[in-house]
Amino acid sequence: MAEVIIIGGGAAGMAAAVFAAEAGHKVQVFEKNEKLGRKLFITGKGRCNFTNACETEEFFQYIVSNPKFLYSAFYGFTNQAAIEFFERLGVRTKTERGNRVFPSSDHSSDIIRSLEMRMKKLGVRIHLKTRVEKILVKEQKAYGVRLSGNTEVYGDYLILAAGGCSYPVTGSDGDGYRIAEELQIPVKPLSPALVPLVVKEDYIPMLQGLSLRNVSLKILDHKKVLYEEFGELLFTHFGVSGPLVLKASSYIGKKLEQGALKAFIDLKPALSFEQLDQRLVRDFEAGRNKQFKNVIHGLLPSKLVPVMLALGGIPSEKKVNVITKEERQEFVALIKAFPMTLLKTRGFEEAIITQGGIDIRGINPSTMESKKIRHLHVIGEVLDLDALTGGFNLQIAWSTAYAAVQGIQEEL
Ligand SMILES: Cc1cc2nc3c(=O)[nH]c(=O)nc-3n(C[C@H](O)[C@H](O)[C@H](O)COP(=O)(O)OP(=O)(O)OC[C@H]3O[C@@H](n4cnc5c(N)ncnc54)[C@H](O)[C@@H]3O)c2cc1C
Repeated sequence: MAEVIIIGGGAAGMAAAVFAAEAGHKVQVFEKNEKLGRKLFITGKGRCNFTNACETEEFFQYIVSNPKFLYSAFYGFTNQAAIEFFERLGVRTKTERGNRVFPSSDHSSDIIRSLEMRMKKLGVRIHLKTRVEKILVKEQKAYGVRLSGNTEVYGDYLILAAGGCSYPVTGSDGDGYRIAEELQIPVKPLSPALVPLVVKEDYIPMLQGLSLRNVSLKILDHKKVLYEEFGELLFTHFGVSGPLVLKASSYIGKKLEQGALKAFIDLKPALSFEQLDQRLVRDFEAGRNKQFKNVIHGLLPSKLVPVMLALGGIPSEKKVNVITKEERQEFVALIKAFPMTLLKTRGFEEAIITQGGIDIRGINPSTMESKKIRHLHVIGEVLDLDALTGGFNLQIAWSTAYAAVQGIQEEL
């Protein structure tokens, strides 16, 4: 039996506490907030999409940074294991569209409560409102923590589960990186991911609130296509958001730090250029004497019409029977490639996940132990790991927590 100290009472830290206490260790959790799992509480819009029930081998395609590092951890504690774990803790679960798994109650608080109750039952000592300032190390081995106020607490094993720096109001404000850097543990540059994007064009704020389903978004670096996907997009007062954009941000966010990128929305991806042109020809014939603005109302959401008219160059009141083929086809081209200039991502305050973090090359992927400092295990978002939405990020927390505790077990 060992004394295990866990820094951070979020998803990864709480799971690690349960796994370690179930294995018979004496566990203490230090959490700087006044309660556990503040970020967990807001996950999945308060419903907590805690894993994804996709096929095991599919899992890795949803991991954006360093999927291979996760092989061992994920196969050690799979998505199925996560579902069984929470069911065992008394949480009934359900699987929704896209294999997203939630508590049946739709309340993230059930996940938090189940972990908390299990921890208490197992005698885990939980120290709230207690910030860890430093990890104590001697001869390259971790042996304790210094808390704010200078108290020192000693243990045999340390698990760093301090989270990333996205949504800092939840407590995950980058402390984990600072603690690691103090120990000369390398941290890869941080950037916000799964985050909305800021757009330059002044017509974007006019579209605020407009949500487009079934559109495709293409992002280019000069002629090179960096991202092309189909889905749902939302205009905001500063730019674009929605599932399609959040996903894009995970792939192009770092590139945006080097400069603006061109993006195009295909508003009618199900139709080819020719099919769409034919559709307009038919619409124009059906309403020969109608004004252009009235004919395209049937084709586009009404909020988009004034912007498209301004960009399209055809006077809005022009009768459709006098519109030239050239004018019409230019308009078709605009529908197939609505232009935007992406300037940057929004900040960490709005990011679902942090990209970058503690360099995984310095971490043993089977045990999550630091290769530099023995008995220090690092888990969850503080590592340079991030995934797309769908429950994958929380699965990273559960799987790395399990691997860390297995690592401790093996050493004893
Ligand atoms: C709005 C939002 C929605 C999300 N929805 C989902 C979802 O539905 N599904 C999904 O898979 N993922 C989701 N995520 C991502 C998911 O929340 C994170 O991947 C996950 O919480 C990471 O777990 P963690 O334990 O590593 O970090 P956290 O959950 O952030 O926990 C870290 C904890 O450490 C504490 N801490 C930090 N520094 C110290 C210190 N020095 N001393 C003491 N304590 C400290 C913090 O207060 C915090 O409680 C969402 C994220 C956000 C922001």
